[in-house]
Amino acid sequence: MQKIRSRVGLCTFILIFFFAGLLVFLNQYRKHAREWFLQPYNRHLYSQDNVLVSGTVRDRNGLILSTVNDGQRIYNGDETVRISTLHVVGDPYGKIGTSALATLYTELISYDRIRGIAAVSENGNTVNLTIDADLNAAAYKALDGRNGTVCVYNYKTGEIMALVSTPAYDPENIPEDLEENEAYSGVYLNRFFSTTATPGSVLKPVILQAALENLTASDIDPSQTGPISECRFNCKGIISFSDGYVKCPKIHGSQTLSETLANSCNCAYAAMAVALGNVRVSEYMQRSGLTSSYRVGAVNTARGTFSVTGVADYRLGYAGVGLYLDQVNPCSLMVYYAAVANGGTAAVPNTVRSVTDAKGREVYKPELTMTGKILSEGSSALIRQMLQNDVIATYGKDRFPCAIAAKSGTVERSGGASDSWFAGFTTDADKPYAFVVFIEHGGSGSRAAGSVAAEVLKALTSGQ
Ligand SMILES: [Zn+2]
Repeated sequence: MQKIRSRVGLCTFILIFFFAGLLVFLNQYRKHAREWFLQPYNRHLYSQDNVLVSGTVRDRNGLILSTVNDGQRIYNGDETVRISTLHVVGDPYGKIGTSALATLYTELISYDRIRGIAAVSENGNTVNLTIDADLNAAAYKALDGRNGTVCVYNYKTGEIMALVSTPAYDPENIPEDLEENEAYSGVYLNRFFSTTATPGSVLKPVILQAALENLTASDIDPSQTGPISECRFNCKGIISFSDGYVKCPKIHGSQTLSETLANSCNCAYAAMAVALGNVRVSEYMQRSGLTSSYRVGAVNTARGTFSVTGVADYRLGYAGVGLYLDQVNPCSLMVYYAAVANGGTAAVPNTVRSVTDAKGREVYKPELTMTGKILSEGSSALIRQMLQNDVIATYGKDRFPCAIAAKSGTVERSGGASDSWFAGFTTDADKPYAFVVFIEHGGSGSRAAGSVAAEVLKALTSGQ
């Protein structure tokens, strides 16, 4: 009897132990099952070459950009579409870490907690992107083999309509020398999200904003009175400070504030930066969002830098014209211009509209996020007007298919042509688009990057 009782006790103990263990397992399963199934060692989701073989990526019009056929990842039939959408869609191996295939791979696989693997269909879920493949192809063609980035987005909805980063390559015909050839250096980075560059004059609107909100005419010239917007700036081609000087490409003479922007007068912007002082200028760089990072889906954009603490006046002057140590990220710059267009705040960009399952049911939809207040209504209205005037007075409005407001930047580079920037927005309220173009060694900002912007806007407006 004693023996039986002790055996019952032992069995009860083992049973309790078994069920406790089962509970722990079920709880872990509930929490982590999806991750376990999506590990690379679950070979049926990945091919022998480590290619993710589940899930389809479509553009905003439903065009298939990448899908799976017979256990192979395949891409769109058009070579230019494949190359121009590479950084947004992703390479077969997930090396472009900011792409849809790399960041949304768990959403691309349709997974069922009960049936698990059995429910994974070959094509899995579909990521519906915000980009338009034709527009992307137009942007890629406009870059014409040069390295850089182009983006256009709707600043009300955050939807990126076109996004190209070069160098790029054809994912159906991967170059054999991709890893060694200098021409492909940095090819896995999406320049728009992950790089920074010296901004030059495209930074001037931030100094303009700080000046409008803090300076009066007498801060620039003690003989003048009234608000800064009525100040006259006299450019002699060079402005001297106690410790150095800042030069202009030419003598601009007497100018209104609006003309200083259209002329992109370095002397005027250096004078305003120095009158503001390094603390104020740094504060506005922070407020502009250019020194912080945006969260675009699962991607954190690169932070810009602006270091002027304790520097000599002429260096602060150079920083005020977007040179010295200034670095900006193209995405953050585009969002700043969008905020100018939109009364002080703008939607944070996004590349994904939704993820749907095989039956077309939505399984994921990103939320619309707005930036904080970057500018006051008053400042954004004034800067908007001045940027519009830039296009009329300097760039030529007939070059563009619609009314725009914009600023160019030309940044001298040693050992080659200047880097070329063009940033701005359309001024028609029904077409709320902001854009940025950056071309490495492109030459003149207005001529090179401005022409690419014109081509993309032409494709955008003709397609609507
Ligand atoms: Zn000047």
